[in-house]
Amino acid sequence: MIAIDTLAVHAGRTGLTEQGVHAVPIDLSTTAPLPSVHDGGLAYEQMATGGVPLDGQSTVYQRLWNPTVARFEDGVAALEGAAQSVGFASGMAAFSAVLLAAQSEGKTHVVAVRPLYGGTDHVLASGLLGNQVTFVKADGVRDALRPDTGLVVVETPANPSLDLVDLNRLVSDAGDVPVLVDNTFATPILQQPLKHGVAMVLHSATKFLGGHGDAMGGVVATSAEWATRLRRVRAVTGGILTPWPAYLLHRGLATLPIRVRAQQDHAHKIAAALASHELVAKVYYPGLPECDPLHLVGTQMSGPGSLMAFDVESAEHAERIPGAVRLITHAVSLGGIDTLIQHPAGLTHRPVAPEAKPQARMLRLSIGLEDPTDIIEDLVQAIESTR
Ligand SMILES: *Cc1c(COP(=O)(O)O)cnc(C)c1O
Repeated sequence: MIAIDTLAVHAGRTGLTEQGVHAVPIDLSTTAPLPSVHDGGLAYEQMATGGVPLDGQSTVYQRLWNPTVARFEDGVAALEGAAQSVGFASGMAAFSAVLLAAQSEGKTHVVAVRPLYGGTDHVLASGLLGNQVTFVKADGVRDALRPDTGLVVVETPANPSLDLVDLNRLVSDAGDVPVLVDNTFATPILQQPLKHGVAMVLHSATKFLGGHGDAMGGVVATSAEWATRLRRVRAVTGGILTPWPAYLLHRGLATLPIRVRAQQDHAHKIAAALASHELVAKVYYPGLPECDPLHLVGTQMSGPGSLMAFDVESAEHAERIPGAVRLITHAVSLGGIDTLIQHPAGLTHRPVAPEAKPQARMLRLSIGLEDPTDIIEDLVQAIESTR
């Protein structure tokens, strides 16, 4: 077994020496030469139904397949221990494709464990893509299943409150229904959900996988069967990952293990400093024992990661803090090289129904690679100057 740090550097880079290059080439072609109407037509049919081009076949058109995107997909599949992965324009494009693929046999009901990322919650609750949804807590999955349930959706750690869900138990409760895990917060470095029997693992690649806040993408790591269904939806609906961001996201994979571990080290220190501050009412971080009642850190997850949230005493105070940070950036998104702070109730979870919306006195932090001492100093001055 090759170690994950080695895979992160090398996966998706086969054949470069034969091509006489060392960096991954970026193929920007939107269309590809066709050998003949007959063979071009066969290649089109191969990919429009979710296949990948056979050896020597024309790739026909970028919406069907692209070699730079395929290299990134190979990289993610290797890290997640998946047969294949499928790249999309964003995490939400990836999630939409999963919903459509899961519904293709008439099973339009989804069981979704809250809390979820605001956009995921919104698309499910709106029914915009033709689904019905039952929102549950992690222990309510079994009772919510119906004959027409085609998908169970869960996020762990969850956005923004860092709740952890026991995947072995969830998969057993879901029975025959495929489970999708949003693994954006943990990354494959800390958690590999496919080992627990889930069907699909989704990432907003915009976050940790790219890691530098400059490329959008989504990806689903899964079996060959599900990948075929997802590529078919992607070819038809057009939510493709394009070559430029695919190149950047793939480059991000090489440093993913060291970034994740370094950011996690910093997060430990920052969570401890916040937990001991008199103006902080509560810290949500899976590395704190009270936030991991099921003892999933050390078993399901190899570490608690670098996302956290904290409550102050009032919503008014929480709303003033992001305006007072100097080194940290007040911005949504997460998983990049620099530390970000945002107010979930007002921003990322704005569309969520009132009963499931995060508290207005909560702020979420994504810890970056800066020296944690500087981040603690900035947080303390922002919290104290706005009290
Ligand atoms: C950001 C995010 C998404 C959505 O991904 P985009 O790339 O923004 O479309 C989905 N799930 C989680 C947990 C996220 O943080």
